Amino acid sequence: MISIVITNQKGGVSKTTTTAELGWILAKQGSNVLMVDLDSQSSLTQLFGVSAENNSIADVFGGSIEGNLDLSDVIQPINGGLSIAPSNVLLYTTEMGLAGRAGREYILKQAFGKLSGYDVAIIDCPPGMGLLTINALVASQGVIIPSLPSVMDLRGVDLTLETIGGIDAAGLNSSLDIIGILLVQFISHTLEHNRILEAVITSGKRILGVIPRSVKVQEAVSKNKTISEYDPKGKPSEAYYYLAKIVTTWLKDNKSRR
Ligand code: ADP
Ligand code: MG
Repeated sequence: MISIVITNQKGGVSKTTTTAELGWILAKQGSNVLMVDLDSQSSLTQLFGVSAENNSIADVFGGSIEGNLDLSDVIQPINGGLSIAPSNVLLYTTEMGLAGRAGREYILKQAFGKLSGYDVAIIDCPPGMGLLTINALVASQGVIIPSLPSVMDLRGVDLTLETIGGIDAAGLNSSLDIIGILLVQFISHTLEHNRILEAVITSGKRILGVIPRSVKVQEAVSKNKTISEYDPKGKPSEAYYYLAKIVTTWLKDNKSRR
């Protein structure tokens, strides 16, 4: 299984939306996809209408002591090749409990090691660079950083990149590839957004496309659907299909390098 993290220190930058779209499209195209919800706010879990009152990813992590369930015990099928390891609010205390535990950065990686039957995992991170995000970065081969098109947000991307660099420097994961930056909630007739796009391109950072802002994305959420399912011909879906294409190529390259 190859794992991809969707992360950014900031909230509200389409991390959850991007996880859901990518998961949904890759599964529709024939992969066995596991989405992992690492946010105690459980937006991803709720988007797919999954209930995690009993077993959740928090039971896999445990806290100050080891978790009492395997990842395979908490995974719930959604449809076709799409499944989710759901989260609930207990994950918040989990993260605090992890601080003093030996091997705290490797819990998700070990849980992945015991799992079989999935082609790809996509991990939705909470905002911030706490131990849950570190676990995701340690357990993965690729990172996608969604960002709003603003100067402040691009500074946030640089900070996120620094943290990711620190993972390698600390010897936690030397085979983590930055797949690229995704500009989200983009308004194409806004001069500032276009200036930001130019700036990202000239900075040499790999850009994975631009997801347009659309009220349909929120509409889809209220119907418990991804935008790719709710409005497959719309501009946001088109942009997410383009992202999925890049990711599929990256997955193939990654596999052949192993
Ligand atoms: P994060 O997980 O980074 O906090 P979300 O994916 O939850 O961000 O997105 C934050 C909010 O913005 C949600 O209400 C979501 O539905 C909305 N949103 C995400 N992408 C778009 C988009 N392309 N157009 C309009 N609204 C969007
Ligand atoms: Mg989120």
